[in-house]
Amino acid sequence: MSRIQLLNPRLANQIAAGEVVERPASVIKELLENSIDAGADRIHIDVEQGGIKLIRVRDNGSGISHDDLTLALSRHATSKIYTLDDLEGVATLGFRGEALASIASVSRLTLTSAAADEEQAWMAQSEGRDMAVELTPAAHPQGTTVEVRDLFFNTPARRKFLRTEKTEFGRIEEVVRKLALSHFEIGITLRHNQRVVHNIQPATTQAEQERRVAGVCGPAFMSQALPVVSERGDFRLSGWVGLPTFSRSQADLQHFYVNGRSIRDKVIAHAVRQAYQDVLMHGRHPAFVLFLDLDPDAVDVNVHPTKHEVRFRDSRAVHDFLFQSIHRAVAAARPDNSAPSAQSFDPGLPAGTQGAAADRFQQAEISLATTGPSGNSAGPGWRREQGRALTPAELGDQRSLYGELHKPAADAEQATPSLAQLARDEPNVPPLGFAIAQLKGIYILAENRHGLVVVDMHAAHERITYERLKVLFHDRNLVAQPLLVPASIAVSQSEADCAEQHGELFSQLGFSIDRAGPESLLVRSVPALLKVSEAEPLVRDVLSDLQEYGSSRRIEAHIDEILATMACHGSVRANRRLSIDEMNVLLRDMERTERGGQCNHGRPTWTQVELPEIDRLFLRGR
Ligand code: ADP
Ligand code: MG
Repeated sequence: MSRIQLLNPRLANQIAAGEVVERPASVIKELLENSIDAGADRIHIDVEQGGIKLIRVRDNGSGISHDDLTLALSRHATSKIYTLDDLEGVATLGFRGEALASIASVSRLTLTSAAADEEQAWMAQSEGRDMAVELTPAAHPQGTTVEVRDLFFNTPARRKFLRTEKTEFGRIEEVVRKLALSHFEIGITLRHNQRVVHNIQPATTQAEQERRVAGVCGPAFMSQALPVVSERGDFRLSGWVGLPTFSRSQADLQHFYVNGRSIRDKVIAHAVRQAYQDVLMHGRHPAFVLFLDLDPDAVDVNVHPTKHEVRFRDSRAVHDFLFQSIHRAVAAARPDNSAPSAQSFDPGLPAGTQGAAADRFQQAEISLATTGPSGNSAGPGWRREQGRALTPAELGDQRSLYGELHKPAADAEQATPSLAQLARDEPNVPPLGFAIAQLKGIYILAENRHGLVVVDMHAAHERITYERLKVLFHDRNLVAQPLLVPASIAVSQSEADCAEQHGELFSQLGFSIDRAGPESLLVRSVPALLKVSEAEPLVRDVLSDLQEYGSSRRIEAHIDEILATMACHGSVRANRRLSIDEMNVLLRDMERTERGGQCNHGRPTWTQVELPEIDRLFLRGR
């Protein structure tokens, strides 16, 4: 064995850099977070050769005083926390006090700053193995500039892992985009090789913020997104969720922020997946931009050096809150008067329609606000939620919420004010209008206030049948079917404990499970729709969900899958001739059905062709 020695400061910092400084984009992330923590509202970023040659971040924040500059470049030096108690409730993005020291150890870094209350600006640079800091006077307006040249010049092994200039710059853009979405008040300019690539203006009004989101996520997202605002106790969720029709093949449009910090988290991912379960085709991913705000004490941000992960003190409560809020928002998407807004299925929305998208978005919001006072459906419920905390009853266990969401909106037609309103200006024209013909045995054509409505008859009927089956099933038929021979399942002790603890939940879902020993369970009955062979894997999955997330919707999800298959087979097939009356019945049913806008596979069930679009075909100026 060799002798033990203390690492020199540069080497210690280089080792720490291994965790936080992976590539130019991670440098940018750390520098931007520092600028935000310093209260800046203008940030200029200059990048050369994908950040490998140069990264420069300039801000107009509080600046760093002469006496603090040396410390700013030292490891374990921070102005953001002083005690362990502070760590429990961190409200800043940084707090580990290692970013600048780490970056300085693997690049040529200069830090120039002018503090608010000081005349003179100073530039700091650290040198040698000891990283001794040298200060020289400089010219700089209030704020800070950090310049990072030749990243990894002294750590060739790391440099080898860098990709092409283009790839590295792409990652930088991603970091900037994530930040632009969460900090609306900050204006950001990003230049690459002396060319301005993004110039993002501060956004204060709702409309400006929507434009900013459209700019970052694409106008198509904004035109097919529903706003979410939901509060419960100390939790607040806001942002936008994409309609199921806007699902993606990759999970690449998912932005989630916890107290302003971009986070990847499996509790969150699971809650979102559950909320969309019913309306997305297998293998598709929802799109969303969501902000969760909660008491800093309720979340531990010190679980990962790059702070991409967090740990919630009560992850079950967070999970349930997210699931319920998003599930409601998604269920609220159904046809109504402002139909074209919520339901323009237009994946290739041309650029430059952002204004229109914002208008549609506004309409969508209004329409949701006025859809049906019936009180038993998620549509109006979603809106009523805004600005007030939910009652405990509303937030009861998922079972009851699930049941409530799936009650048929039987009184919707007579009571929907949007319809009433519509009847005033144009008597008796329902949102999806009246059927005029059937096309090719596949589509129903109908005329409404806006022009032509085209309905995919099979998809629409399938959704209606499915929702109906679910209501029937969950209201009455979650009956347990006793097994002739009880099935025994070998589990771990903790799983057996968990099954015992959640006995009530299982029996609500039609299972009856007894503990047969320290590590074995006995299933005595299963829900009537399930095959016995499906029971065991399902129980196992549910137990693992319960242990991991504190809740599970697997049983319902599985039953829903069976119902969906039944619905698909029970729905009108293509090429069946429908009478005009039959078509009208279908249209009215669609208006009443939750999630009527998508079929069970997340495809749209109908689309609006507006009169001006038809006029355009005939070059008719209106
Ligand atoms: P941390 O952000 O975890 O505190 P850093 O190494 O990133 O650690 O920064 C060290 C300290 O330098 C910060 O705590 C802060 O006081 C100061 N600092 C860094 N960047 C800036 C900036 N852009 N504006 C003002 N102060 C800064
Ligand atoms: Mg920092």
